[in-house]
Amino acid sequence: MSKKRKPYKENLLRVGDFGKDLARRSKSKCELCEASKVKLTIYEVPPAPTVPEFEDCMLLCDHCLNTIFNIDSVKENDLRFLEGPIWSENKIIQATAIALLKTAEDKYSWIGDSLENIYIDDELENMISKIKF
Ligand SMILES: [Zn+2]
Repeated sequence: MSKKRKPYKENLLRVGDFGKDLARRSKSKCELCEASKVKLTIYEVPPAPTVPEFEDCMLLCDHCLNTIFNIDSVKENDLRFLEGPIWSENKIIQATAIALLKTAEDKYSWIGDSLENIYIDDELENMISKIKF
């Protein structure tokens, strides 16, 4: 990476600049669970790059953010809503949904069944493997 590190605050402002475009892309719905008419927050898929990239950002509702932040303590059905976005045509949404499911794949057998039908090419596999919650 040759891009220069930006101060944190400046990063926040730049992520904020994505708001309008993300709202357009998401049609103002949560990009994981599709909740509408809820507060949406810009989420940078980790590891966040030094310079924010629009393609690494998603608009998420509080419920999805909480699920991600507490991914280690999810119950069996807490991740069922991800069965939709694992089919997303948007790569970062699809990769994030799959990466979230994979964190609990060993615990719940339905997750393996859901992921079995998804075609994961090298590019997607690469994106998924980089995501660390
Ligand atoms: Zn949501």
